[in-house]
Amino acid sequence: MSFQKYLLVYDGMRMVFDFTETEEQRLIVRSVKEWCEKNLNAEKVREMDDEGHPFPKEIVEGLCSLGVVMGPVPVEHGGSGIDWVTQALIAEVIGYYDPTVATAAALMAVETGWGFTLDRHCGEIVRERYVKPAIEGKQFVGIATTEPGGGSDVAGFKSTAQKDKDGWILNGEKTFISGTEECKKWGGGYWVNVRSGPTLPEAPHRNMTSFFLPIDTEGVEVQKPYRDAGRMAISTGGFTMNDVRLPDEYRLGEIGKGFYYTMEGFDNARMMIAASCVGMIKRVLDIGTPYIKERITFGRPLAKNEAIQFELAEIYREMEALKLMTLKTCWMQDIRYREEGILAKTGKPKTFTPLEITKWISMIKWKGPSLALDTAQRVMLWFGAAGYTKDYLLEAAWRGIMSYVIGAEGGKNIQKLVVARELLGKQYIPYK
Ligand SMILES: Cc1cc2nc3c(=O)[nH]c(=O)nc-3n(C[C@H](O)[C@H](O)[C@H](O)COP(=O)(O)OP(=O)(O)OC[C@H]3O[C@@H](n4cnc5c(N)ncnc54)[C@H](O)[C@@H]3O)c2cc1C
Repeated sequence: MSFQKYLLVYDGMRMVFDFTETEEQRLIVRSVKEWCEKNLNAEKVREMDDEGHPFPKEIVEGLCSLGVVMGPVPVEHGGSGIDWVTQALIAEVIGYYDPTVATAAALMAVETGWGFTLDRHCGEIVRERYVKPAIEGKQFVGIATTEPGGGSDVAGFKSTAQKDKDGWILNGEKTFISGTEECKKWGGGYWVNVRSGPTLPEAPHRNMTSFFLPIDTEGVEVQKPYRDAGRMAISTGGFTMNDVRLPDEYRLGEIGKGFYYTMEGFDNARMMIAASCVGMIKRVLDIGTPYIKERITFGRPLAKNEAIQFELAEIYREMEALKLMTLKTCWMQDIRYREEGILAKTGKPKTFTPLEITKWISMIKWKGPSLALDTAQRVMLWFGAAGYTKDYLLEAAWRGIMSYVIGAEGGKNIQKLVVARELLGKQYIPYK
């Protein structure tokens, strides 16, 4: 299946839907594909899945050297200054080559989605010490919102930050955090959310402040990683914060505004997940299609059965729909960042409200992983018993993508709640 091109551009006063990729996009995508062809081929992905974490450093450094990790970070901050549409085309290629989604999870959702957002809200010290080295592939930066009490209720956390004269003292625990072993090994740290004032029952999202927490800070204790079901190449673990002292320079943005920055981080990470799902689905079809043409049952190829053909056609249609939705969403997000100054100055967005964009983001975060899981399962069934072996990457794709359906970057039901909130209005939020 050929790599297809879509680009949506915004031209001053008019919206122009132009599906031609730019020369820059063509070159970037080609260089990522060529790199992956050599360094992230099926054998390497199988090895990564079999050996498990920590994530291979050479994959991180190689992709970082192409400037495609945290690509939208401005050039003056060490990034490539590309737009989200281009970054989505890159995430699609990475999802294609590593259908277990470990590479996309580590480098697109976490490092690119959250790393870009971290760069927007951190100060110069954090940028120089952590963001720039992570862009170069030397360190790892991640996100730690989830706590033992739950992850879906992002404002329901318990960790605290108390101000003292030298800075802040953090206490609490974070669980199910991607990349803890990588972070411990390579250096780097986490965006953490903590409560810097009392919990207000009517507005628990207030008094939430975000910090960047270097993993090697005294008082941080990294726990043993979980034994995950899939995306084996990247670890998932947790850590406790026991009277951890952080200087004020490690605070992200304004005191008490952490909830809003966190929602922005989720938005960017979720776009990357949807884009990598497009690639993963494409890969699964590329594994499955030749097989159904060759496999003979009842004297004819499986592909000659309408039941199988209809499944292929349906998956293909849905994959193309997901791709269109994903690129439209990234295009909306590009407009949001371009028009940020207008919103700040007038209080009104020129083109889309941030919540309208978030609705689209939730639609693709819901559709992408669900479709990818369904596709992996259906294509495994085409293979019969062979689909249940490790001879193909199908089962690894199926195990990996489940992480995004079950919860990573927000479970399916949470995305549905966001979409419904936008359609019905805030007064219908069920849990208020
Ligand atoms: C592999 C992996 C990597 C992860 N990496 C990170 C990371 O790097 N950083 C981080 O902070 N977190 C991470 N997480 C945690 C993830 O963010 C949480 O799993 C997610 O937010 C859901 O939280 P929970 O698991 O506590 O489930 P819960 O919040 O307990 O929810 C359980 C189930 O109920 C559903 N549900 C919850 N509330 C409602 C409701 N009101 N209505 C209907 N259904 C509802 C949820 O969708 C879910 O299916 C990761 C998770 C996984 C699996």
